[in-house]
Amino acid sequence: MKKLLLLAMSLMALQTWAQKPEDTEVYQPVPPKVSTGKVFSDAPSDALILFDGKNLDQWVSVKDKSKPAQWTIDNGAFTVKKGTGNIETKKAFLNYQLHLEWKIPANITGKGQARGNSGLFLASTGGGDDGYELQILDNYNNDTYVNGQAGSIYKQFVPLANANKKPGEWQTYDVIWTAPTFNTDGSIKTPARVTVLFNGVLVQNNAVLTGPTQYIGAPSYKKAHGACPIKLQDHGDPSEPISFRNIWIREL
Ligand code: MG
Repeated sequence: MKKLLLLAMSLMALQTWAQKPEDTEVYQPVPPKVSTGKVFSDAPSDALILFDGKNLDQWVSVKDKSKPAQWTIDNGAFTVKKGTGNIETKKAFLNYQLHLEWKIPANITGKGQARGNSGLFLASTGGGDDGYELQILDNYNNDTYVNGQAGSIYKQFVPLANANKKPGEWQTYDVIWTAPTFNTDGSIKTPARVTVLFNGVLVQNNAVLTGPTQYIGAPSYKKAHGACPIKLQDHGDPSEPISFRNIWIREL
């Protein structure tokens, strides 16, 4: 009996050890394609402007938080400067409504996850890619696992529709984020919830998150956290870098 138990335990350990990124990729069903119209985007009077087209004063480099964000500002927008790493807001947030616009360059190349990959981390819980990622990717005409396409909560929630605009066109995310709360012992009390409009189309409807984004294995709430910065991803793939503009937030 004891031997059997030991065998079962080592099999379980082996299973965890043998997990691969592919294990949590979902391919079916594919979200329906929806064409979208013009999207309202002006900041309301009570919003905090996180990027007004002029400077990255509200942002720091995640690699070295004492340094300003290194990404390139041009013509009212800013663009990922590959290799400089992720950037995040100086300020930390709990519950909020966020508006952000992003653009895949018209000359984008690559496929799958290597085609305009970035990400909006709704709460950055640490360095690197730690946090809850709303995927940014070109999926106008580019297949990948559907829980990793634009509008997905990466590897957790497939978007309800594919509302991608063509590369070269500005696109919008409007997000309503409810931060998770934790018990004093660090265990999860109320999970994070998120609603997302992608180019005005509902793609996440009050999704209840099972934890921060995890590349390999199942997500779970391992560590308690309070208010967190919002982070943008400098993904390591070699495709042309993507741009952002008109970012504002309303704390709730
Ligand atoms: Mg990403």
